[in-house]
Amino acid sequence: MTPTQNSTLTARAASYAPSRDRLARTVADLCALGEKVSGTPEEQQACDYLTAQLRAMGVSYKVHRFDSYISYPTATTLTLLVPEARDIPAVGVAFTRDTGAAGIEADIVWAGAGGPEQYADLDARGKIALIDKLPTYGLCEAARKAGAAALVGMSSGPQRHKMTCSPIWGAPASKAEVDAMPAIAGASINRPDGEWLRQLAQRGGARGRLVARVDTRWREVLLPVAEIPGTEPEFLLMGAHYCTWFDGATDNIGAVAILLELARLFQGRATPPRHGIRLAWWPGHTHGRYAGSAWYADEFWHELNDRAIAYFNVDINGSRRAYNKALRNQTGEAAAYTAAVMRDVLGEIDPDQAASMQACLRRPERYVHHTRPHRASDQSFWGVGLSGLQVSSFLQKDDPDRLPNSGLARWWHAEEDTVENCDPDVLLEDARLHAQLVHGLVDAAVLPLDLLGIAGDVDDALREYAEAAPELRLLDEIAAAVQRFRGAAQRFHAAGARLDPADTAATAAWNRRLLRAIHGVNPAVYLLGSPFQQDRATGSRLLPGFKPLLDWQALSTDERRMLRVALRREVNRLVHALDEARRVIET
Ligand SMILES: [Zn+2]
Repeated sequence: MTPTQNSTLTARAASYAPSRDRLARTVADLCALGEKVSGTPEEQQACDYLTAQLRAMGVSYKVHRFDSYISYPTATTLTLLVPEARDIPAVGVAFTRDTGAAGIEADIVWAGAGGPEQYADLDARGKIALIDKLPTYGLCEAARKAGAAALVGMSSGPQRHKMTCSPIWGAPASKAEVDAMPAIAGASINRPDGEWLRQLAQRGGARGRLVARVDTRWREVLLPVAEIPGTEPEFLLMGAHYCTWFDGATDNIGAVAILLELARLFQGRATPPRHGIRLAWWPGHTHGRYAGSAWYADEFWHELNDRAIAYFNVDINGSRRAYNKALRNQTGEAAAYTAAVMRDVLGEIDPDQAASMQACLRRPERYVHHTRPHRASDQSFWGVGLSGLQVSSFLQKDDPDRLPNSGLARWWHAEEDTVENCDPDVLLEDARLHAQLVHGLVDAAVLPLDLLGIAGDVDDALREYAEAAPELRLLDEIAAAVQRFRGAAQRFHAAGARLDPADTAATAAWNRRLLRAIHGVNPAVYLLGSPFQQDRATGSRLLPGFKPLLDWQALSTDERRMLRVALRREVNRLVHALDEARRVIET
């Protein structure tokens, strides 16, 4: 199957007509509930709203209830005491330490970009460290290791972003994981206040009190899941988090509305789709560090591994002036398909804007494509092995409301993420694009996922590692396995292209082999640990187990010996996954 064959399906997709009014009404209604923290009455109201809509459409659904470890800041005040008394508006950081009602009174020191090196010549012990970035887990850890009592970060403008700092993916599975949460208080202020405070701190003698109340505990959360059945047992999994910071119009109620509209459009068809669609509205996204999707991956691991076509994440859509449609979180085998649909729907992309999206989605690797998944955004299905795709709407280059080095708007995670900053026309275009992408997957006789994309990704990731240690021949085994896999994949896809779409027994059998191959090899490409665990929520690379190779030249002889032992195992894991997948498509 080649992506161009799939474009023959697009004429039919053009008949999908999302309703601008329905999209706008969902956004207005759910924004009116205010901040939707998981495990609170606002979550219950949002869930009730979604299920009432699904009932009215005749869509079947289920609401899962389960315990999850949820954190959110309840009250945050930063008061400057010396050299003058002044309240500095601040917002809190999920999963940071609760200061208690008395708060922390301490000197404020300037720690620049907040990395470990910034503390080398700075006595931050017992002090409030002020940095010119937003708080992250890594920056919390750098401050904590330097002995700081609290970390205060700042935004790039007048807005204040609520952030989350847990390194643990989903709910903690042990006391050790609970203990891994940042053991430091945190807050986030805006740039004008931050710059003013920086000057005082640099002069010396600035002192303040931070009260940062954070409510972190197990709570019961709600996960509604709707199902549009297909004629085949396979289904596409789609998900959008419905928990929000503040009203959350563009993160993520716009996406919530798209999912609801897709349910209506596909349920209302005269004929059911070939493959089903399962629509999930995740709780615990930033309040639980992807707790909803992680729970779903655990609970439905076998079914997803056996029958899910892909995971289509829907997040960051409908923002005012968000005219750049950025493919992201897509695995290699989905890339040719999404590119073809994007071309069909949007035409050629302006090279300047394309370059700007690429810059926004920069990755740590040198050669890996910028649209590949990051360890964020409910990417809980790497262990199951699912293909991934996502399209976010980004602000264009030079837009005054764009965050630096990002396609996100300044209202992301901020009080300004209100209904006024969601444009129904942008959301309508996003819904059309999503309908098209869904249609091409669920109505395809032969699934448009291309195994050669996986082979290309492994080559791209391997290249940087091989360059770091050119004398190490161990990686040649992987290159040989990729070659074997690529040859088999070419023959397999050629056979798929020759199938008669009306021969449903033959296409179904081919699709099942394709999914088995993809689900077998993806965990080895994306995950550091076992497919039944979740890697930490801190950074990611393709073939992450090979990362220590990047330091090869600086290692001592003994360190190289140990790394060879570790790499032998990593090579075995990857070669085994590629060979097993090859056997599936060769039989
Ligand atoms: Zn989001």
